[in-house]
Amino acid sequence: MTHDTSALHDLSVAQLATQLRDRKVSAVETAQHFLARAKTHASLGAFLDINEEVTLTQARNADAALAAGTTRPLQTLLGVPLAHKDIFVTRDFVSTAGSNMLTGYRSPFDATVVAKLAEQGVVTLGKLNCDEFAMGSANENSAFGLVQNPWDTTRTPGGSSGGSAAAVAARLTPAATGTDTGGSIRQPASFCGITGIKPTYGRASRYGMVAFASSLDQAGPMARTAEDCALLLSAMCGPDPDRDSTSLDVPAENFTRSLNEDLNGLRIGIPKEFFGEGLAPDVRAAVDAALNEYEKLGAKLVPISLPRTELSIPVYYIIAPAEASSNLSRFDGVKFGHRADKYADLTDMYKKTRAEGFGDEVKRRIMIGAYVLSHGYYDAYYLQAQKIRRMIADDFQQAFKLCDVIAGPVAPTVAWKLGDKSDDPLANYLADIFTLPGSLAGLPGMSIPVGFGADHMPVGMQLIGNYLQEAKLLNVAHRFQQATDWHTTKPKGF
Ligand code: GLN
Repeated sequence: MTHDTSALHDLSVAQLATQLRDRKVSAVETAQHFLARAKTHASLGAFLDINEEVTLTQARNADAALAAGTTRPLQTLLGVPLAHKDIFVTRDFVSTAGSNMLTGYRSPFDATVVAKLAEQGVVTLGKLNCDEFAMGSANENSAFGLVQNPWDTTRTPGGSSGGSAAAVAARLTPAATGTDTGGSIRQPASFCGITGIKPTYGRASRYGMVAFASSLDQAGPMARTAEDCALLLSAMCGPDPDRDSTSLDVPAENFTRSLNEDLNGLRIGIPKEFFGEGLAPDVRAAVDAALNEYEKLGAKLVPISLPRTELSIPVYYIIAPAEASSNLSRFDGVKFGHRADKYADLTDMYKKTRAEGFGDEVKRRIMIGAYVLSHGYYDAYYLQAQKIRRMIADDFQQAFKLCDVIAGPVAPTVAWKLGDKSDDPLANYLADIFTLPGSLAGLPGMSIPVGFGADHMPVGMQLIGNYLQEAKLLNVAHRFQQATDWHTTKPKGF
């Protein structure tokens, strides 16, 4: 195929899939194009592992399938390149979860989400940087270096899926997987001006996702458009009863089907707690303008209240560390991962292994988690947090009596400068205030680009839906993207 492939990186997943299907471009040349870009822009720090051999073999297989035509049911993503957050384990690439504990680790199997995307024909470009065990809001907790925001390389791309967001924004991949425990898909998507969705808890299997906080962790796609997210999410979801007991017994859905429903009469709930003092005026202005646009599209804005929004921070930062302290006990130097070189006895081996393998933030959370679960404190902290978690979920159900979707900012500010909050864990935690309530309730949420704030940094708007309303959220986002072009603007130099 001899034609101009120089702008392949500007195509969406949907456009690429069509071009591949129509054989206007081959999977191999597409993969080569993106691999070359990843190399050119390696200084962003987005990729942690690349294996050209593996990628090109997958691409050649995709080309063979494309050449053979439609002998099988057509794979929706045949030949489309994609990269995975390094929290998903993969057989063919190193899987580190951003931790020294797993330096060089090779998994004997693929995560279910990875396998499901492969079933639809995606070609894996590699693994993407993230905060260690997905704990963080700036990607500064990765053991393997910083990730730069392509809009301003002195700023954070957000976290924990910072590598995913930066890679998509810089067009090093048309799409990526992410995971969201307390905002890690939505916040980096917002900071990097891309689109991302965290589905309802249990929609996508957690099998093969290195566990952080099991009652919150969810996988989801990050791409430039809601349409692309719909395509990818359709491939990622579905029950996995044998391997993830919390996966929902809800059949996979084709989320692209309902993308063109008009928004006439749509009731958008505006939680007053999301628009209070802590919200930066530049973010507020962009979100307000987007809400105006929605009114033009026929939606009605309805004031609502999520009265326990502030409590979501202490509640989350008790429950997530509690679960993390339990989940991370598996990294003991015995079964897999790092083991200290020299030790006196078994206990000493555990201690040294864990002292060497974990970074500061992870250790902090293990300590907090062990503390809130310990005898005498369990009732005062953990149990109390669980009760408030339920009340937060109930508040959303009250709100959904008045509205169809909820809208607000994703984060109180645009992306901050790298290093600005790295010595201040609390400042990072506070910045999660708008994403945590939906996570604690297990609701689907997404981030869509709605403009620019201070220093021309992207602003994302959050849309939260009721349980299993991903199709509605994606439609609401898609209609906005058809009327605006924020999602098509790109950072200079990429
Ligand atoms: N910033 C939050 C945390 O540090 C959320 C991370 C996530 O969603 N994985 O826990």
